[in-house]
Amino acid sequence: MISIVQRDDPVLREHAADVPPAHIPTPQIQKIIRDMKTALHEQDDGVAIAAPQIGVPLRIFVVSGRAFDLEEDEDELPAPGETKHHDLVFINPVITRLSKKRRWLPEGCLSVRWLYGKVLRSEKATVRAYDETGKSFTRGASGLLAQIFQHETDHLDGVLFTDKARDVEHLEPERIKKARG
Ligand code: ZN
Repeated sequence: MISIVQRDDPVLREHAADVPPAHIPTPQIQKIIRDMKTALHEQDDGVAIAAPQIGVPLRIFVVSGRAFDLEEDEDELPAPGETKHHDLVFINPVITRLSKKRRWLPEGCLSVRWLYGKVLRSEKATVRAYDETGKSFTRGASGLLAQIFQHETDHLDGVLFTDKARDVEHLEPERIKKARG
């Protein structure tokens, strides 16, 4: 089990460093990506994770294939082994576009157990990043995925959702059926 660092850990407040693109294929970076996927899949409610959440201050986040299932069916979070989509890796992600239209959306975090609140997020977001093979790509999204892009890039800048959330409440683990990143 790979432990996920919690809110008081200073690594969550660091401005994470870029990964030199030439380092992406190295065993060190590939192991970090593998560990992030493992940590994510060990969490029943996880849909995404940023490297600082496993104690690594580098600009990498991974979106679980489950998040793409959720996009297709808003209510059902499939078991980690049951998704038909692949995890998507974002290295040195840069948000290149955010829609002006924003909404207060419910949000939680694997590093802020067990708080839950509403955060003002753009409805659409576009991210440019490198994948785990070092190839550059651009991905646009709306809804949950756009929210994930914003939540995860915040992590890489040392920002937690509770810094900007309203109506924050504490929910017991067994009452939580919502996705977290
Ligand atoms: Zn988070």
